[in-house]
Amino acid sequence: MKKNLVVIGYGGMGGWHVNHALKSDAVNLLGIYDIKEERENAAKEKGIYAYSSLEEVLNDKRVDLVTIATPNDVHKEIAVRALIEGGKNVISEKPVTLSTADLQSMIDASEKAGRIFTVHQNRRWDVDYLATKKLYESGDIGAVFNIESRIHGSRGIPSDWRGIKEFGGGMLYDWGVHLIDQILQIVKEPIVGIYCRFDHITNDEVDDGFKLEIEFTTGSRAYIEVGTYNFIQLPRFYMQGKNGTAIVQDWRENCKVVKCKHWHESEVIPVETAAGLTKTMAPRNSITVDEYEIDRPESDVHDFYRNICAAIDGKEEQFVTHVQMMRVLKVIEAAFESGEKNQKVLVTI
Ligand code: NAD
Repeated sequence: MKKNLVVIGYGGMGGWHVNHALKSDAVNLLGIYDIKEERENAAKEKGIYAYSSLEEVLNDKRVDLVTIATPNDVHKEIAVRALIEGGKNVISEKPVTLSTADLQSMIDASEKAGRIFTVHQNRRWDVDYLATKKLYESGDIGAVFNIESRIHGSRGIPSDWRGIKEFGGGMLYDWGVHLIDQILQIVKEPIVGIYCRFDHITNDEVDDGFKLEIEFTTGSRAYIEVGTYNFIQLPRFYMQGKNGTAIVQDWRENCKVVKCKHWHESEVIPVETAAGLTKTMAPRNSITVDEYEIDRPESDVHDFYRNICAAIDGKEEQFVTHVQMMRVLKVIEAAFESGEKNQKVLVTI
């Protein structure tokens, strides 16, 4: 049976949840709640019920599940109230909250209430990520020693609460959460080191981009970069394994793989550069490498709500677990510490 859902915060992402809920085979939208009258009216104009207060949502016995799509700083307060006062199951938008201490109090509240609590890591359904993960897990390019994940835009931080610290603004809390979560889903190894540098090109108060290095216990590395002042974009994913290299240029493109067939070459034709010759950096030919593309994996983002509803019924484990949520926030805290100290931070995550 479908679960009854209320979306709290009917802005950009709240609108996304509402539109998806209206097409969902897992949830039934009862309405929205937003502190702004204009957003209430926008819902009413579409024939969607607008609750007049959070209390009205929490006291409505029909409500099984709330999705919190407010600015980041109030996720914790609303989630704890919904769990404890309302006995509701809770999905929080990302970042689930701003610190590991706050996350722990949300987890404690969900355990006390005996209700599901998770975060909407919808970018686990992105096909660029799924293709990279599939290749990593296939072992086709051998043991991966370096994986790079980048997202580049050229419009700075959106001119809303995302540019203000007290609301939990900044790009590490924004796109950073997605990219860290994706990497931790691909590389399932403990993390031992974090080094992060932050950009402040268009905003002094919060980061408008960052460069984050993650070192894993095996010595393999991940590099995550978010930029909002990049008028030329670097590839979305770049991955090096002991048998080859893979690249996803853009989220609309396939994953391209170049795999090493023969390490040794009988004859290398040197390339002439502006000032000399190089054999070392000359491209390989088809005798020693294979080139192919990975099909774009199937992906249905409605599986997120399907999973949560099944988890509420005790039929499935929730897809985004408390341990995974905590690991992402630990990386974020270590990244801020690294940025402040301007040095690598040793961690066990
Ligand atoms: P937004 O500013 O467009 O919308 C936020 C809405 O919340 C506003 O309408 C505001 O009036 C309302 N609001 C603020 N405080 C409230 C409160 N206490 N109670 C009820 N309503 C309140 O912001 P957005 O872009 O929709 O972002 C909302 C959340 O969704 C953020 O946490 C953001 O990180 C997340 N988000 C996630 C994705 C994703 O892909 N998963 C994409 C965009 C945004």
